[in-house]
Amino acid sequence: MGTAVQYIYLAAAASFVIGLHLMNNPATARRGNLLSGGAMAVAVAATVALLISWGTVSTTAWLVIAAGAATGSTAGVYAARRVHLTAMPQLVSLFNAVGGGAAALIAIAHLLSETDPGARFTVPGALDILIGAVAFSGSLVAAGKLQGWVPAHPIVYRGARLLPVVLAAGVLAGVLWLVAAPESLGALLLLTAAALGFGVVMVLPIGGADMPVVISLLNAAAGLAVSLAGFVLDELVLVIAGALVGAAGSILTKLMAEAMNRSVLHIMLGGFGTGDGGGAAAGSEAQVRSVTVEDVAIQLAYADRVVIVPGYGLAAAQAQHQAAALAALLEERGVTVTYAIHPVAGRMPGHMNVLLAEANVPYPQLRDLEQANPEFPQADVALVVGANDVTNPAARRPGTAISGMPILDVDRARSIVVIKRSMGHGYAGIDNELYTDPRTGMLFADAKQALTDLAAAVRTFVR
Ligand code: NDP
Repeated sequence: MGTAVQYIYLAAAASFVIGLHLMNNPATARRGNLLSGGAMAVAVAATVALLISWGTVSTTAWLVIAAGAATGSTAGVYAARRVHLTAMPQLVSLFNAVGGGAAALIAIAHLLSETDPGARFTVPGALDILIGAVAFSGSLVAAGKLQGWVPAHPIVYRGARLLPVVLAAGVLAGVLWLVAAPESLGALLLLTAAALGFGVVMVLPIGGADMPVVISLLNAAAGLAVSLAGFVLDELVLVIAGALVGAAGSILTKLMAEAMNRSVLHIMLGGFGTGDGGGAAAGSEAQVRSVTVEDVAIQLAYADRVVIVPGYGLAAAQAQHQAAALAALLEERGVTVTYAIHPVAGRMPGHMNVLLAEANVPYPQLRDLEQANPEFPQADVALVVGANDVTNPAARRPGTAISGMPILDVDRARSIVVIKRSMGHGYAGIDNELYTDPRTGMLFADAKQALTDLAAAVRTFVR
């Protein structure tokens, strides 16, 4: 039985890798997800079969396992089905917290349950507790920031530089104490508490707009902790699954940090959001040109090239279908339509791609940042739908909260139309200089309504 289960684990691990590979392409991503999820279900079923074959699991233990599995699965299915796509980063962050916390608990339980004192302390075990606990508490704070339960701006307080150093020293002391006295409960408590505290103080000073990178980094940490838990339990499939999450999270962290033009170290040191926070004196609505649906519809209907720039507002309004319908209508009229997608548009990596795929937008129409920017000067209209920070030219000069972040060069299009409800800020909380550009027309409306009205108006024009 044991050998058969090991082969099943190996097949599951291979399926995780193939599943990840399939997720490279939107067309095969669902299949990849199903394959990986199915492989995990098979691995869990094989583990249950193995436990039954041992015949040593007590009734209480079975009850605990059943209660844990039922609670976890119910919460997981409920969250995945009910949580709005715009709240997905918080959910991912909570999943990271659960993964990191579970991994840390495995090592803690291992330390507490071993009967042979000499075998109790292992380096992977200590690292598992450290990284798992940091991922747990850090992810909870990150989720709180994104949900608005914790202020999203960098939280700076007296001793903010000193406290992490003290907690890091506490972690080190806990590890050394555990090496010297592996059976010491005090050492275990010190290590766990210091690591939990470190996770909190690490994330508090980081600004909300840097959260995607932080969540991705914590995802990598949770994966690493799970992998270390695999070493603690001597379970290969856990080592592989954790390593895959750790590697994928690390690669994503690097890509996102590059997309925002910051180093991961700079982000973790809380450098973001410390600029003057201002763009142009754009706040004054007097400098802004407001346009009507009819004005915009004429521009779109008689354009040669239109670039749609989706952002968080499109997701919040759930306007992806209306955007796709308007684009299809324009294409029918001979207008070339493309979508320019910024890597951190929306509230999670790939957010816009997922939404547009849901609306069956043809892939050839999608452009990433590098492909889109050279095309803006040829665009007759850049139609910005609920995007703000990712289009803000203030990023090109120093001293603002988004300085250095690569942006979509929307302001290089021949004319610009921005659909949003008000002069409200985006995620970074700063004014957008694009709105006061003389070539920009502001269409103040909900994205879904505006796109519906635009399509209706475009239909009334003959080509
Ligand atoms: P922003 O958050 O900068 O701006 C969104 C805009 O949408 C707002 O200014 C808002 O203006 C408008 N809006 C909101 N609701 C509606 C609606 N119903 N109809 C029309 N407009 C609406 O979005 P971007 O996509 O440009 O930028 C993403 C930001 O989020 C970046 O700062 C990024 O760093 C950050 N972030 C990204 C993550 C990611 O991984 N993608 C994760 C976490 C943060 P108004 O209220 O006036 O309508």
